Amino acid sequence: MKKEAKTDLDALIVGAGVAGLFMLYRLRSRGFKARVYEAGGDVGGTWYWNRYPGARCDTESVQYSYQFSEELQQDWEWSERYASQPEILRYVEHVAERFDLRRDVVFNTRIVSAVFDEEASRWVVETDGGERISATFCVMATGCLSSPNFPAFEGLDGFDGPVFHTGLWPHEKVDFSGKRVGVIGTGSSAMQSIPIIAREADDVFVFQRTAHFAVPAHNGPINEERVREVKANYPQIRARAKRSATGFDQTFGEKEALKVSEEEREREFEKRWAHGGLPFLSAFTDLRYSEEANRMAGEFVRNKIREIVKDPETAELLCPTTVIGCKRLCVITEYFEAYNRPNVHLVDVSESPIERITPEGVVTGGRVYDIDMLILATGFDAMTGTLLRIDIRGRGGRTLQDKWKEGPRTYLGLMTAGFPNMFTITGPGSPSVLTNMQTSIDHHVEWIGACLVYLRENGMKSIEASMEAEDAWVAHNNEETAKTIRYKCTSWYLGANIPGKPRVFMPYIAGFDVYSKKCAQIVAAGYEGFRLIPRETDPVDTLVGHSGDS
Ligand code: NAP
Repeated sequence: MKKEAKTDLDALIVGAGVAGLFMLYRLRSRGFKARVYEAGGDVGGTWYWNRYPGARCDTESVQYSYQFSEELQQDWEWSERYASQPEILRYVEHVAERFDLRRDVVFNTRIVSAVFDEEASRWVVETDGGERISATFCVMATGCLSSPNFPAFEGLDGFDGPVFHTGLWPHEKVDFSGKRVGVIGTGSSAMQSIPIIAREADDVFVFQRTAHFAVPAHNGPINEERVREVKANYPQIRARAKRSATGFDQTFGEKEALKVSEEEREREFEKRWAHGGLPFLSAFTDLRYSEEANRMAGEFVRNKIREIVKDPETAELLCPTTVIGCKRLCVITEYFEAYNRPNVHLVDVSESPIERITPEGVVTGGRVYDIDMLILATGFDAMTGTLLRIDIRGRGGRTLQDKWKEGPRTYLGLMTAGFPNMFTITGPGSPSVLTNMQTSIDHHVEWIGACLVYLRENGMKSIEASMEAEDAWVAHNNEETAKTIRYKCTSWYLGANIPGKPRVFMPYIAGFDVYSKKCAQIVAAGYEGFRLIPRETDPVDTLVGHSGDS
């Protein structure tokens, strides 16, 4: 028999990463009783799981940080321009400690189902330990890249050596010395780890199916003058980031690549290459729309690869042929240089896919590559994978799996019709992964926090996206995507990395600035497109929240 559900919560939050912790803080500060359930053994989310060598953020550390506490942003000292995984994890742990968040987090506990009880207007959530918890609201802070993708390689289980996925890296140091290491994949995780592994291993065999675009990070110790300047101007920096399309405080090119001279174009690309990082894609306004402009940016990067990589054949294999920005742009440190080492071997599997894994190694093109250790840098079932692994049932017992079988459908990436009082932080249909995640997380958490206060103050027991508003939002998303060329490759943005997954471009592409304005207008119009249902007569059972402080 199922255990009786505990009913003491206003909000149950799934995930104790950057988003879930802030959601807990915000709901607490607004007088709600909230608790987080986390599958991992501690806080950190992405930064807890992705401990592979070389893991670091591709957003500058001073911008990859919380903004809800002025004291926190003044006190915390980053050591590098782009913080490493251990440093970011220390930061998240510090936040958990400083704001006493862990007392409301249940660790080592996976949520396996969430069922909406229509009569009580509450979510009944079940853990992998069989515990049932009931809460008025359920907030999915499950992350966009949290379900590792394990391709179905025949024979993988029979491999003689250890197999690691970059997204589920062990807590102990992995020793590569004297080893022949195989790495499958050449996305961000592979590009960050390969140069580090190559320093230690005897040999590294990189199995590349598609060459990915990458620009240098130019990482290094943080510039103290810059830190002083940032700390003195944090409010302005955060405000500029919120007004930008990417959620970053950065410079955006205002000209079209096709309308400037070749010299000016090259100068701008060079300037951005020298600066480093994702702002490379903002060099010109037409890189997202014009195949020709995009090809010019791509050719600039290809020429850089040809300059760096000494062996011309290897260099050509490393030159991507896709639209730049179509797959997520990688931000690297000495990745292409690694191929100048005699112990790094690029294996092209674009024409002859990996056939199988034998106890000795990887078979492709009729050859066995003998290795001692295999690393799967094969990415994630992005944006929907983690949500769809939970048995979520809304009105009428309809499952989310059924509702999203042809791709995710949401209103603003915050809610999905038929699933009242359930929110997704940085869900599909919101700018999320196309932006500075911290800006998008901050925005969603504040939006949800304010929404719950509004419901409480206006005597509402539930909120739900209307089907009409959701349909219109999905159509708008598709129209905005179709204006660009960023859906024209096999990217995880599109679900194309997972066999059988519907091909729908999942993040909202029109920009964080446009998006957040729409969200604000919708609130100002009394939560337009949402259905708000008033509390019944007995306020005790359905009371939303407790005290009313802010
Ligand atoms: P990813 O970008 O999805 O790359 C996965 C790689 O595995 C691709 O090269 C893919 O090839 C390859 N692959 C998958 N299945 C394969 C198969 N059956 N045979 C051969 N190759 C296969 O994953 P990721 O590198 O983990 O990065 C995911 C995202 O996480 C990034 O795009 C980024 O948003 C985030 N991330 C960020 C950072 C950072 O900034 N700091 C670091 C790591 C990750 P194809 O390209 O041909 O599909």
